Amino acid sequence: MSQPVRTRIAPSPTGFLHLGTARTALYSWAYARHHGGQFVLRIEDTDVARSTQESVAQIIAAMRWLGLDHDEGPIYQMQRLARYHEVVEQMIAAGTAYRCWCTPAELDVMREAQRARGEKTHYDRRWRPGPGKVLPPVPQGVQPVVRFANPVHGQVSWNDLVKGPISISNEEIDDLIILRPAPEGAPEGAGAWGVPTYNFAVVVDDWDMAITHVFRGDEHINNTPWQINIFNALGAPLPLYGHCPIILGDDGQKLSKRRGAVSVTAYEDAGYLPEAMLNYLARLGWSHGDEEIFSREQMVQWFDGSHLAKSPAQWDPVKLAWVNGHYMKLADDARLAALTRTQLAGRGVAADDLDLLARAAALFKDRCTTVVELADWAEMIFVEIRPRPEDLETHLTPAVRAALPTLADKLAAASWDKAGIAAALKETLGAHQLKMPQLAPAVRLLVCGRAQTPSVDAVLTLFSRAVVLQRLQPR
Ligand code: GLU
Repeated sequence: MSQPVRTRIAPSPTGFLHLGTARTALYSWAYARHHGGQFVLRIEDTDVARSTQESVAQIIAAMRWLGLDHDEGPIYQMQRLARYHEVVEQMIAAGTAYRCWCTPAELDVMREAQRARGEKTHYDRRWRPGPGKVLPPVPQGVQPVVRFANPVHGQVSWNDLVKGPISISNEEIDDLIILRPAPEGAPEGAGAWGVPTYNFAVVVDDWDMAITHVFRGDEHINNTPWQINIFNALGAPLPLYGHCPIILGDDGQKLSKRRGAVSVTAYEDAGYLPEAMLNYLARLGWSHGDEEIFSREQMVQWFDGSHLAKSPAQWDPVKLAWVNGHYMKLADDARLAALTRTQLAGRGVAADDLDLLARAAALFKDRCTTVVELADWAEMIFVEIRPRPEDLETHLTPAVRAALPTLADKLAAASWDKAGIAAALKETLGAHQLKMPQLAPAVRLLVCGRAQTPSVDAVLTLFSRAVVLQRLQPR
């Protein structure tokens, strides 16, 4: 291909970055990177009533968190109104678009009559100019919309990168509204001309931004014939389209808020690592042989637009946790320390000793699937712990209780490191004829609040001597 590859992600800023959008962003990004091309971020904010700057900020933050860096943008559609107006004027002049003064009430009557005749409802093209056709008189006080003069006959066909060949008859397709009068609250520039609809703005943008490949959700398959027809009407080169199936929840229904988190940000808050999210999202609709774990660089190397799944993938929280656990083990301790600090701060626990948190990460990360679990471990260093009474009863046997003052004495004199603590524990066992599996769970329970932890001598080094001695006091 001689043209440089250019892809884009075009979220509507009406909420958080949805997992499905993040996945198509990832495919678009990886495809551009694979070909040494460019990836553009476009904000489709023409839904003036629902778009917010806060949502834009959240989307950009989530993309940054995932490491999906864009080369151009963010480009805002609402800042390009003059361009859409210019193209509309050219289209009206060329006869590929026309003004329509139908009121909503008129359209209702039209559809009602069609239904009564047993027809599929459609716009009857009453305002579409044609040779020898007399148009209705222009009504007073009605602001027109502009409609695209869709071809009346023939087929729209494309070879979808994901779904394969798709063909739709033009007879199925209405003359789409491409520009509407500016709604309440629209910025000045919308003026008398109005705001473009999605299917029109997307074409002008993909054309102007020289987009070569469009990856997006398959809910847009029905929009693609209009878009292709508009491209053709403009004499613009067509991008290639790849429509990815929706993501299903683990119950087989469409992934939705009611069925758990659907935003990327929620997973960041829940302690997932971006590299795990990327790896998991990538596999949700794409494969490279049997590879389950791969780096961002490997994905870029492998992602050539092939092996995209035609059927919907199911969101699998257990697998995501497994992937995240894998990356937790690989993650640098200092990085995990900083993430743990943020998690703890969110709980109102001030834990600013990053070296200490890094030592905690080194000890616990192997048994954690998320940063939240790591914070669950680290929290015991900073807050009072409350062992469960039934655990105390199980582990604080009379023999163990008798040994605790000895242990406290020995720890008071020990050098405060793993070897010193191990020696104090060993001497206590000898003095009281106890075995480690009797003493260690009790010590863990009293100091950490749980009877199972990594090696007890290592865990105790995370606490100050004073805290350990205080927690070992008879209760
Ligand atoms: N704003 C559209 C969406 O969020 C973009 C669709 C497209 O990529 O063309 O669904």
